[in-house]
Amino acid sequence: MNDRFQQYVNVAPEEVALLTYDSTKDVVWSAFHFSSESESHKNTGAELGGGIDIQKQKLVTQIERSGKLDGDATTTFLAQHDGTRVIALDLFATLRVQKITDEANAPLSFIQEDKLEDPNLFVILPKPLKAGESFTIRTLYSGKDAVLNSGGGTYFPVARENWFPTNAAVPFGDYAEYEMQFKIPKGLTMVATGKRLSESTEGGQNVSTWASETAQATAGFNFGKFKEKETKLEKPAITVQSFANEELPDIFQNVQNAANNPLPGQEHEESGLALGTMSTVALMEKPLAEADIAVQIYTNYFGPLNYTHIAMTPQATCSYGQSWPYVVYLPICAYLDDTQRHQLVGESLRQQFWKTVGPHEVAHQWWGHTVGFDSYRDQWMSEGFAEFAASLFVQQVYAKDPKMYLDYWKYRREFLTEKNNMGWRAIDAGPVTLGYRLANEKFGESLTFDLIYPKGAYILHMLQQMMVDAHGSDGPFRAMMQDFTKTYANRVATTEDFKATVEKHMLPRMDLDGNHRMDWFFNQYVYGTALPSYSFDSSFENQNGATVFKFKLTQSNVTPEFKMTVPIYAELTNGRVIRFAEVKMVGNNTLEQSVPLGQVKEAPKRAMINYYYDVLALDK
Ligand SMILES: [Zn+2]
Repeated sequence: MNDRFQQYVNVAPEEVALLTYDSTKDVVWSAFHFSSESESHKNTGAELGGGIDIQKQKLVTQIERSGKLDGDATTTFLAQHDGTRVIALDLFATLRVQKITDEANAPLSFIQEDKLEDPNLFVILPKPLKAGESFTIRTLYSGKDAVLNSGGGTYFPVARENWFPTNAAVPFGDYAEYEMQFKIPKGLTMVATGKRLSESTEGGQNVSTWASETAQATAGFNFGKFKEKETKLEKPAITVQSFANEELPDIFQNVQNAANNPLPGQEHEESGLALGTMSTVALMEKPLAEADIAVQIYTNYFGPLNYTHIAMTPQATCSYGQSWPYVVYLPICAYLDDTQRHQLVGESLRQQFWKTVGPHEVAHQWWGHTVGFDSYRDQWMSEGFAEFAASLFVQQVYAKDPKMYLDYWKYRREFLTEKNNMGWRAIDAGPVTLGYRLANEKFGESLTFDLIYPKGAYILHMLQQMMVDAHGSDGPFRAMMQDFTKTYANRVATTEDFKATVEKHMLPRMDLDGNHRMDWFFNQYVYGTALPSYSFDSSFENQNGATVFKFKLTQSNVTPEFKMTVPIYAELTNGRVIRFAEVKMVGNNTLEQSVPLGQVKEAPKRAMINYYYDVLALDK
């Protein structure tokens, strides 16, 4: 099984899958729980060699300048079912276990085969545990490659979720309490998840201790030769920190040298930029300001965060960001301005990626961390909600240029509906609830950017647009999201949990089936791959001094059951756009109507549908 395939066939916690694979065609056709579990609606996780619920992790970690890591982890867990004897842990392959002991310091047997063979870690307990019984193990381990020295005093934590022994069945989302101590070379700064309790220099080492303030889905760190800046927000009371490298990591050194010492005959276009002395410190204000604003917007929309601070930290890569509780890993290129970035790395991967990667990652503090997701089938909420959150950032930060916000949704619709070089549209790959399983040979990794992010974002965007009240406020939507955060804080939520929350807060206009359920919407857009097309013609006519609005709206490319409310907008003579009507459409149909508006001072300039990309659809 090749690496690429292995990465995508992980359908845990489901146990049974039908898959086909060869060098080019990797497909998961279906995946299920055992029938006994499906019948009882209970996934025991027993087959993964344990079924444990980790309660507490006490981690003492020493990292050398080379990146070599020495770990001492004390893990307390509860058995989830009777007879738990062998537990499955996830530990990065090159971190080799020296010893595992129980609370009485008695050695325990364990299995960890060669790093190139099957390095999964299994611990054999001295006796079977009963459901709910607590057990504590201590694991000593050590190895290289889990942390990479990326040059210039920068380090890259390669093993993000398994630098310590974690629950193999739930690598992300087994909410637990953490107590951590880090020892790193003197002169470097540690930024870890949780609240920093102490920091001191002992011998040649920087020693810091950290504790979780609330249960965390995972734990992690970033460190390096950092400069730090921070702002203390009052509402909400959160400290936002920005860390930046004093020197550039190795990935830039060669580019820098090339820029400063151009080859004979090569144009030295970068002359206006002092690359030789460049560091990201001068630019650390940008992520700080972005996070300040994002935290305030998201608190307003999603409710308070459970953490007292957020740290924006750089990582030596340009292509992606990531978010751990309290700690955001920003691609180092996000610290550059457009000119510098263009000179160093050329065009961005995706238009506007740089503008929103910071706000997207900050949003994961809510989506993915405060509220976890249950399985790969629910992961779309984490990514989609974060991507939606970034649209709120764009809308408010670039309020003077409303086109930025509209373009945000226009681009995301393009990602979903433009054919890739093999002729396939991402939206047709399958529903978002199949998650990364859909990354088959026709879509590969582009599925993340082209389906999970934009479709997940669109689902929430459509709900927001449906939940605008009579006063033009999206208050009902905000109330729903805050309820969702509050209800599922520090635990995992499923797609059905979210659907139930939507149904609790839905407005009468969303009740298209008259049963106070949102099945119609979820079946079409969440569990389905619907993409309607609309054509719209309209005019405002003057009839004996009164204005009559005439329109013809056609919905096509849908199943006969497909239904939607389509908002109609009008652009007034002063340029303002208002939402002034909405029509319910069912199946492939055309609606033609004349609506007398009575005497209006000035007839609107024009009417349009889908002005805010309210409905994920194509224009015809
Ligand atoms: Zn994300």
